[in-house]
Amino acid sequence: MTHTPSFLQHALSTPPALAAWPLPGGLEARWLAPGCVELNGGAVDADSVLLSCGVHGNETAPIEVVDGILRDIAAGRLALRCRLLVMFANLDAIRQGVRYGNYDMNRLFNGAHAKQAEWPESARAAELESLAEAFLAPARGRRLHYDLHTAIRGSVFEKFAIYPFLHERAHNREQLAWMGQCGIEAVLLHSQPANTFSYHTSRRCEADAFTLELGKARPFGQNDLSRFSGIDRALRALLSAEPANNNAQAAALPLFRAKYDLVKLSEAFRLHLADDVENFTVLPDGMLIAEDGDVRYVACGGKERILFPNPAVKPGLRAGIVVEPASLG
Ligand SMILES: [Zn+2]
Repeated sequence: MTHTPSFLQHALSTPPALAAWPLPGGLEARWLAPGCVELNGGAVDADSVLLSCGVHGNETAPIEVVDGILRDIAAGRLALRCRLLVMFANLDAIRQGVRYGNYDMNRLFNGAHAKQAEWPESARAAELESLAEAFLAPARGRRLHYDLHTAIRGSVFEKFAIYPFLHERAHNREQLAWMGQCGIEAVLLHSQPANTFSYHTSRRCEADAFTLELGKARPFGQNDLSRFSGIDRALRALLSAEPANNNAQAAALPLFRAKYDLVKLSEAFRLHLADDVENFTVLPDGMLIAEDGDVRYVACGGKERILFPNPAVKPGLRAGIVVEPASLG
């Protein structure tokens, strides 16, 4: 019986001991940077899978899911047949149990860190970008990146994915089918660039990259991991190169696209939704969603929904997204 290391505990230990760990089956785990570990489970033409978690430090369930997968690979209980890079992203925030310390890390990718260099999160975002690019650049198989999150508020669709803006590339229907296997209930097709980690790897590395919102954020020890069994199962099947289940759920997966942002123009901004309104709540036709001085945001058509409402942001920033049903055409 070999000792099974805890990757998460190692990631959170200070000072971090960078090292390579031999694992069963000729595998090796190499720590590339604090919290970033690569497992060489496949040739360069196998799938390359980047799993990031803890970009928001209080979103603990995905961290536990990923740590459990690593533990089982290390114990020889789960076969690894692809190239795998795992990132426990915002280590300081994970230690403190907070979303972020100084600045939201998921607004600092796509090079945005260079303009906000004063924050510790900026240096870390730059480091994660470099490691992701170095990992995905030589890949000859599929390049996949799943950035795993849980959300602050409840959601009409408990689990949903954000598909970054693809510019001229087409949406990958195979990936949308795989989302269904993960238990994802809806997908937002983003329609403009963003400074998120998944947009970065999608744009710069041509990865099939997604932000996955997998439920509600809770502290370590308070997660009901049975609610995350879908993503856990689907990731394990992916990593051990088991054949996919079926594509039947893809057709049923509701798709949305951003119609417009609710921009907070001034401190006069008033959001006319309850504080605890759930993501994807339908906005009835004619409803006054928000107002800001003379500017009024009014719902139209009865099929629009609200996503990520947050009136507490600074003026000039997005205080929510109005989304509408979409199709791939
Ligand atoms: Zn998050």
